[in-house]
Amino acid sequence: MTPTPAYAAQSADQPLGPHAIERREPGPHDIAIDILYCGVCHSDLHTARNEWGNTTYPSVPGHEIVGTVTAVGKDVHGFKAGDTVGVGCMVDSCGHCDSCKAGEENYCENGFTGTYNGPAQEDGGNTYGGYSANIVVDEKFVLHITHKDNLAAVAPLLCAGITTYSPLRHWHVGPGKKVGIVGLGGLGHMGVKLAHAMGAHVVLFTTSPSKTGDGKRLGADEVVISKDPAQMAQHAGSFDFILNTVAAPHNLDAYLNLLKRDGTMCLVGAPPIDSPHPSPTVFNLIMKRRGIAGSLIGGIRETQEMLDFCAEHDIVSDIETIAMRDINKAYERMLKSDVKYRFVIDMQSLKDEARSKAA
Ligand code: NAP
Ligand code: ZN
Repeated sequence: MTPTPAYAAQSADQPLGPHAIERREPGPHDIAIDILYCGVCHSDLHTARNEWGNTTYPSVPGHEIVGTVTAVGKDVHGFKAGDTVGVGCMVDSCGHCDSCKAGEENYCENGFTGTYNGPAQEDGGNTYGGYSANIVVDEKFVLHITHKDNLAAVAPLLCAGITTYSPLRHWHVGPGKKVGIVGLGGLGHMGVKLAHAMGAHVVLFTTSPSKTGDGKRLGADEVVISKDPAQMAQHAGSFDFILNTVAAPHNLDAYLNLLKRDGTMCLVGAPPIDSPHPSPTVFNLIMKRRGIAGSLIGGIRETQEMLDFCAEHDIVSDIETIAMRDINKAYERMLKSDVKYRFVIDMQSLKDEARSKAA
């Protein structure tokens, strides 16, 4: 085992702080990765604070990891030391259920192993995520990064990117389609960029009037202030697809009314377990055969496809880089929708902090 500096939450109501973890020695199929950057997802905050009711402590969040390969196991063929790689939300799955066989490990019928808050399958313990100096991952769950520079801004693609790319592809977003993205946060700003790159007519819904200019710069053709009923009414019955990334409970009917016949609103935002969305009105669904759906990240094959699509279209995240010790301040700003548009931890700050403590 290798001792590794990390940041962890020790309970739901404590801030994150330094915490030493251990990483396994790389097995024959494993890749050891020195972590350069890790994005800060709202799911990290939900988990650190046990808002989904399933957190095992200590909890080391982080599932938007970009790093450099430092060693590979003897049976690894697709990667070598020095490669730039990514790790997203999963580090293992059963490999033999229908979903895994279809390349949809994110829907593994036996439950995939999360990069953090696992549980790890062999020992039933926890897994520790990317708020750490390094990680060891089975090569099946490691992604190739082909972006040449700006690697900090690539990190959020590993969750925010794939979580928006996958439903946009599944519901055939492209030219001739009118697509709404709800919420301009980490997921939402990637949704706007990707839907625009896929050729759709993109409408951003935001509660923050100050984000209007950014919404257009990022690729929205129109920006609607969702708190203004008159602006919302102008779009009634006109959308093919709406991707809702909002983490807080809100009135879904306001968006269902905007779907065309047979339109779908896909929810990817996941509110805390004790404050769900109010139930939508059934008539809003049956009168136009509208659908509400959900979607969870994406499979490994599709994640690689998304990374390659982004490299080809010159897409990265808009980020604010922070030091590891500023993570608790970043969480508070995220709760105020004050992120432009993803925090990314420069992991050198954690390595320096650990080194100065040891000295
Ligand atoms: P985020 O950066 O905090 O962005 C959420 C955005 O939602 C905010 O920036 C804000 O945008 C809007 N918003 C916040 N409070 C609101 C409210 N009360 N009413 C309406 N809009 C509000 O979060 P994120 O990292 O993008 O994650 C969003 C959600 O997706 C979280 O619940 C996260 O756990 C979940 N998630 C799901 C998956 C999946 O696989 N399904 C994967 C990753 C994350 P405006 O200022 O523009 O209104
Ligand atoms: Zn995430």
